Amino acid sequence: MIRVLLVEDDRELGELLVRAFGNAGYAVDLAPDGQAGLHRALTRGYDLLVLDRGLPAIEGLDLLARLRRSGVRTPALILTALGTVADRIAGLDGGAEDYVVKPFDLGELLARVRALLRRQPPAAGHVVAVGTAEFDLITRTVTAGDGTVTTLSGRESDLLRLLAEHPSRVFSRREIAAGVFPDSGTDTLADTYVHYLRRKLGAAVVTTVRGTGYRLGRL
Ligand code: CA
Repeated sequence: MIRVLLVEDDRELGELLVRAFGNAGYAVDLAPDGQAGLHRALTRGYDLLVLDRGLPAIEGLDLLARLRRSGVRTPALILTALGTVADRIAGLDGGAEDYVVKPFDLGELLARVRALLRRQPPAAGHVVAVGTAEFDLITRTVTAGDGTVTTLSGRESDLLRLLAEHPSRVFSRREIAAGVFPDSGTDTLADTYVHYLRRKLGAAVVTTVRGTGYRLGRL
């Protein structure tokens, strides 16, 4: 199943697009503002991002720039009411693979989405290296170098994904809590889930950085 993250604050348009993408066979998550979109894009696996440019909290191009800086390479299509040449250039320079001006034809939008997905086969983004192990984001399984397969819970998988997609970055407990538990994140939940991951995969999977937080370890 191809997973699409749609970040759109216009409720009517958002619902229309969710239906259209759904009818086209995609699984769609809708985030109503840039902050919610950022959390989702950082913590879940998507094959395509569809970002409105004018968004509350974090505007679309800023959101995309933050994701690119964090190492998220998921192809992105920007929707915008701004249609000048300068705006298109800003969008493409900002890391977007395509740019569609509102009002747009739904059929054309879906055709552009198909073209983007053809360029980047979805399977390519689903396996992340954790040292010598391979972590499959879809099946939530970690296959160690010796072939041992461990299945993670949804939250454990979200946490490992966050760390594995940014292997050199140290995350504070607050950042982990906000990224993995956006609705209920307390700092101690980050510690709890690091503990769960270590119990399943070995203590070395997560490295504690004293006084700062955690980063990806080795398997
Ligand atoms: Ca908007």
